[in-house]
Amino acid sequence: MTITPDDPRSKEPEARPTTPEDEVLREAESVLEQAVPEAESSMSVLDDARRLVLVHAHPDDETIGNGVTMARSVAEGVHVTLVTCTLGEEGEVLVPELEHLAADKDDALGQHRVGELATAMEALGVRDFRFLGGPGRYRDSGMMGLPTNDRPESFWQADLDEAAGLLVEVIREVRPQVLVTYDENGGYGHPDHIQAHRVAMRAVELAADPAVGSGEPWSVEKVYWNALPVSWWREGLRALRAAGDTTTFEGLDPEGELPFGVEDDVITTVVDAPEHIDAKLAAMRAHATQIALDGPFFALSNNLGNQVWAREAYTLVRGVRGHDEVDADGHETGLFAGLE
Ligand SMILES: [Zn+2]
Repeated sequence: MTITPDDPRSKEPEARPTTPEDEVLREAESVLEQAVPEAESSMSVLDDARRLVLVHAHPDDETIGNGVTMARSVAEGVHVTLVTCTLGEEGEVLVPELEHLAADKDDALGQHRVGELATAMEALGVRDFRFLGGPGRYRDSGMMGLPTNDRPESFWQADLDEAAGLLVEVIREVRPQVLVTYDENGGYGHPDHIQAHRVAMRAVELAADPAVGSGEPWSVEKVYWNALPVSWWREGLRALRAAGDTTTFEGLDPEGELPFGVEDDVITTVVDAPEHIDAKLAAMRAHATQIALDGPFFALSNNLGNQVWAREAYTLVRGVRGHDEVDADGHETGLFAGLE
């Protein structure tokens, strides 16, 4: 890709001591460069009238949570920008031949996941995907309570305004009408998801403030949090148990208390896009080290059919709910509902 002097990416990163990780990051950068064809850089983001930014913690979160939304948006001519905050270095490796990549072995999983993400984005048709502050700026913090939460380079330890400032640059460049991130709990309590939520919400605030940084202020019209309605979880669990599967999401009773999911009445928006289910499944398969074909995510589609992945739900937390495109339950059917 061509980096022009006024491109925020042209800013020299702060000098830091050379570590084995630097080599990994250089390779990750080159994967990203190969993923963006030269011609793309001459087109401006602002050529597309509708623009969507999604802020995620790790490669794969975007596909699981927003795969059909992203694919449909691209098909509708929306400029989709994915900002991923870490490389997912601490993830568990579900492919036996690649176990050596794990953080406690070669510690090369992050670089590998950059490639997985690039393949997934190709499947969804998304060309603009970036890492917050560049690949490797923030490291995966690992699950809540682990010693990896305390590593100084972990995203959990990031200075909120500094990380938000990096996202402000993206928001002011892309000028999205809509931004998607997680709720305060990050959906399920992972520190990087919670931090991604904080950084995204702070950045929306700072981007609109003329007193902050350089560049034209930009006010994002609508902000959504990803949401998984409890009823969808129950439906999924019931289908698994009815099929005799007692090991997937082991110990969870479809009629009992569930540790995840939000009440259905906070859902404002449901994107139902079965025409993009193949793209989403292809993107899920691209994240091979994270989403096992014989694991719980595919167990759901094996029992409920692929349609289980065709719906994605959201809660609108900033902006005005649109009433021009609604489903039978009164939910918005698209993230740009009610906008120009
Ligand atoms: Zn994640």
